[in-house]
Amino acid sequence: MSIFIISPNRDPKDWIESFKTQAPDIAVHTDLDAVNPKDIQLALVWNHQHGALQAFPNLKLISSMGAGVDHIFADDKRPQVPVARVMGEALTVSMSQYILAAVLQYQRKFKEYALDQAAQMWNQERGEHSQIKVGILGMGSLGLDAAMKLDQIGIEVIGYGRSAKSKTVVPYYHGDQLEEFLGQINVLVCLLPLTEETKDILNINLFRKCQPGTYLINVARGLHLVEDDLIKALNEGLLSGAFLDVFRKEPLEPNHPFWKHPQINITPHIASVTKPALAVRDVIINYRNLQSGEKLINLADPAAGY
Ligand code: NDP
Repeated sequence: MSIFIISPNRDPKDWIESFKTQAPDIAVHTDLDAVNPKDIQLALVWNHQHGALQAFPNLKLISSMGAGVDHIFADDKRPQVPVARVMGEALTVSMSQYILAAVLQYQRKFKEYALDQAAQMWNQERGEHSQIKVGILGMGSLGLDAAMKLDQIGIEVIGYGRSAKSKTVVPYYHGDQLEEFLGQINVLVCLLPLTEETKDILNINLFRKCQPGTYLINVARGLHLVEDDLIKALNEGLLSGAFLDVFRKEPLEPNHPFWKHPQINITPHIASVTKPALAVRDVIINYRNLQSGEKLINLADPAAGY
């Protein structure tokens, strides 16, 4: 039994090194010509070519190299085996740091102060956005951590998810309470998975339901945001700005209007890059659990799509 990595646009070197250090007994392959496909029981993938997993007749688990599994579920030719994803501190620490940075630069008006500095202007009247209320859309592994950390530094925060939860650190809404949730907030953070239900969810109708001048932070997936609607919402004052890490087409095209938009901040999908040294721990657990027949961890739900 061994592991096969498929990651066409991502160098798997650090993953291979981490397996060597943490589980030298596990054989990890990347070259189909150098392996007997029947030996592969676990495939570790990031944006693999659809249909590629059919090469492995004894596959028992497909594991994502990131939190998202939309790239796996989009492959309708994949073997029907469980799908696992990265969870925990391999992603939460840097994602929460990114969100705190994005919220705080908005709240403390650092962008405006940078303009003042460029104009050599000493302006103590700007103040800050003192009444901010952050709404986190998607209270899963990453949303819950970000909510807890925002709450710890004194930012008012509420969350929204799909299903009811008995206990959350911050006020929580779900199901048909979306409008009630949106109506209270003036900073919206999207941390949803990409599914049929959530594609295009960040559109003009949703922006109209938030407080006027809401600030948008999208760190989930580019396909959540209807990009033309963002420009429209900024022009109409429904939104006051946006901090975006993900885009419908990545890399963002050279003449895309977001690049030079004064109210939009852009980062190139780096909010939380999976740390292989931490992420392989759970892949190794699943590898061993496959061997011993124990329960697999971090599984996605194919019916829900995440
Ligand atoms: P999880 O699957 O752990 O959490 C998803 C959350 O969204 C859950 O709370 C779920 O509700 C909720 N949800 C799902 N569908 C809906 C819906 N239709 N309406 C309302 N809520 C819904 O995801 P993660 O926290 O691990 O990841 C969140 C996102 O971040 C993903 O899109 C991922 O791809 C992205 N990401 C981006 C990175 C970057 O660098 N930019 C890095 C890592 C992840 P419930 O709790 O009820 O199931």
